[in-house]
Amino acid sequence: MAAKRILLWYRNDLRLHDHLPLNQALAECASVIPLYCFDDRHFGKTKFGFPKTGAFRSQFLIESIADLRNSWQSRGSDLTIRRGLPEVVIPELVEQLGITDIYYHREVTAEEVAVSTALEQALKLIGVNYKSFWGQTLYQLQDLPFNLANIPELFTKFRKDVERDCQIPMPLIAPASLAPLPVDLDPGNLPNLKDLGLELPEVDSRGVLVFKGGETAGIDRLNQYIWQRDKLRIYKETRNGMLGADYSSKFSPWLALGCLSPRYISQQVKKYENERIENDSTYWLIFELLWRDYFRFICAKHGNQIFQQSGLQGVEMSWKEDWERFNLWREGKTGFPLVDANMRELAATGFMSNRGRQNVGSFLTKNLGIDWRMGAEWFESLLIDYDVCSNWGNWNYTAGVGNDARGFRFFNIIKQSQDYDRDGKYVKHWLPELAQIPAAKVHEPWKLLPVEQERFGVNIGVSYPQPIVDLFKSARTNELIYNMAFNISSHSVDRSAPKRRSK
Ligand SMILES: Cc1cc2nc3c(=O)[nH]c(=O)nc-3n(C[C@H](O)[C@H](O)[C@H](O)COP(=O)(O)OP(=O)(O)OC[C@H]3O[C@@H](n4cnc5c(N)ncnc54)[C@H](O)[C@@H]3O)c2cc1C
Repeated sequence: MAAKRILLWYRNDLRLHDHLPLNQALAECASVIPLYCFDDRHFGKTKFGFPKTGAFRSQFLIESIADLRNSWQSRGSDLTIRRGLPEVVIPELVEQLGITDIYYHREVTAEEVAVSTALEQALKLIGVNYKSFWGQTLYQLQDLPFNLANIPELFTKFRKDVERDCQIPMPLIAPASLAPLPVDLDPGNLPNLKDLGLELPEVDSRGVLVFKGGETAGIDRLNQYIWQRDKLRIYKETRNGMLGADYSSKFSPWLALGCLSPRYISQQVKKYENERIENDSTYWLIFELLWRDYFRFICAKHGNQIFQQSGLQGVEMSWKEDWERFNLWREGKTGFPLVDANMRELAATGFMSNRGRQNVGSFLTKNLGIDWRMGAEWFESLLIDYDVCSNWGNWNYTAGVGNDARGFRFFNIIKQSQDYDRDGKYVKHWLPELAQIPAAKVHEPWKLLPVEQERFGVNIGVSYPQPIVDLFKSARTNELIYNMAFNISSHSVDRSAPKRRSK
């Protein structure tokens, strides 16, 4: 039998550590050919017309590929880079190099599955083997105590069952050396942002962190956060913050592109528990990663439903496509400082805290009644940590069409602002026009008397907008619409002070 020559197709798994397809390929053949293919479909437009991969994430992606190439080169090989459709590029490489097998990580959502299906069909035609692997979660799909069709619809049930019955596998170790690429293979050039038709806005020094793409930077962030700055021990108390590098881990961009493996994080947390302290915070980081797992498994279970307007619940509701208000929302001009500060942070940096995401999502859907998919696509375009399952899954929940919808639950933006930004530092950070207003008044600037406005150097309606809706009236109107769709008659549940987490 002829020797195997395996091509490793990189997707959202841009690392060497804990990489099952790579590990398996190296166990089976001496020379593995790694490929990353820039697919122009990723750089097109979303359904509502936003750039599908905006400049922040594209830049992070390019940096991640550069780092991956560097890692392959420093081990004696190289990363092949192409631009085109994987289902065309890979069969061409197969013909050129006599490749026998293609290994890659399995994705679960429509666009990603469409590409792998097209590739698999092309490979079948030319008689080449392919194998996909599960591997972006803490728990392996095959280790779960239920099959895919029976994944619980409630997170808590899912969590309890996996915590009781499953083990998180140990991460695989990155190979120390790699065989060189075939001499007749041109490794190809790494495109820059301009090649992709994008331009990076100036770096905004107000951002929480300078996010640099790649496995090296991801591991460095982990070392900084967990070991050097010792922030893991207080994660549970700080994770609802919005300002600064260390209120939360900021691992999400590296997780989204697979530069960091969640199992590697879990192993480091265990090590920290053994060497420093085991407490609620160390548990909570893994708890949050379990949400990430859950959304991926739920997407695998429900397929395209997560993208439908009616959501996982399948509930038909009349959502608005109000561009005028949507534009005010995305530009941070709603007149509600907490919403505006968060939306301006997103636009300026490509990042927003979890607390911010929940508030702006609630405002868009529960106060403005705007089609939640517009929000999800705007996030998809801008978020540096965009992850298809986590984003669309969270938006399902935020809009109240997720699989454990528990009635109309909205955030009281004013109370949230007072609770989580008591001294107003966050809103003032992103809204300098409000900088002189005392903390007690900054969360409701529309209440300032003319004389106060003059004193604090702000002109409501001119230098900072009037609120575009009445917070409670608008919530009541949308609650009626929601309840009619669900055929229920309960009253608004204000989520301003969630007991544990707001989901
Ligand atoms: C409307 C909305 C959209 C979101 N879109 C995304 C997205 O596209 N990509 C993304 O990674 N997260 C998304 N989240 C989840 C969450 O906001 C981010 O994961 C988190 O803010 C990232 O910051 P961190 O890494 O510092 O999180 P930490 O608090 O340090 O949490 C550690 C890790 O746990 C995971 N995690 C935490 N919270 C959640 C959650 N609610 N759902 C899924 N995983 C979670 C993330 O991988 C995160 O990196 C979204 C949340 C909402 C409400």
